[in-house]
Amino acid sequence: MKCPLCDSKNDKFLNHKNRSFYHCDNCDGIYVDKEDYLDVEEEKQRYSTHNNTIENKGYVKMFQRFLDDTVRKFSDDINTVLDYGCGPGPVLAELLKKDGFEVDYYDPVFYPEIDESKKYDLVTCTEVFEHFHNPKENIKKILKKIKKGGYLAVMTYFHDGKDVFKNWFYKDDPTHVFFYNTNTFKYIADEFNLEILFNNSTKHVLLKKPD
Ligand SMILES: [Zn+2]
Repeated sequence: MKCPLCDSKNDKFLNHKNRSFYHCDNCDGIYVDKEDYLDVEEEKQRYSTHNNTIENKGYVKMFQRFLDDTVRKFSDDINTVLDYGCGPGPVLAELLKKDGFEVDYYDPVFYPEIDESKKYDLVTCTEVFEHFHNPKENIKKILKKIKKGGYLAVMTYFHDGKDVFKNWFYKDDPTHVFFYNTNTFKYIADEFNLEILFNNSTKHVLLKKPD
């Protein structure tokens, strides 16, 4: 099956809980067979069960670490933010507002309204990239929302290679269908003409669009 990020053809390396996984030799991504995707209703049901509110201290702490690593280092350049794929409770948007940013949020399932023409200094995508059925097209769409010289801050857990993938917890969420690592983000940066400003090699990445 073809890689939905870079289009190269790869072989299956794992069957696990009724899903087939492929590793891409070109971009180092790992992806699920598209026959095994949940449908939209099943995905929505699954997302609605997440306990992701501002009262959940662990959840908030996770975002604070993400903001420290990425957004807060460049706060002087940033006024407007779009939180893309915020899920049922826009917690990160609340934290960004507290930091003084002007924040909009969007989620294809829960908050589908979006100002098509508006562009932002920063787009945040936390726990979003791993849900993309078509990462190439989704990334293109996101980049259209960012101004020239603007930023894209991403949080998604990096995989540690196909040899240890079988025991990795993150793959077991049936809505997670594409997994990245440092090489995959290098591929994305090259392909979409972005600069990687920060990468903690486990889950936080900050990219910049050229001026
Ligand atoms: Zn690929």
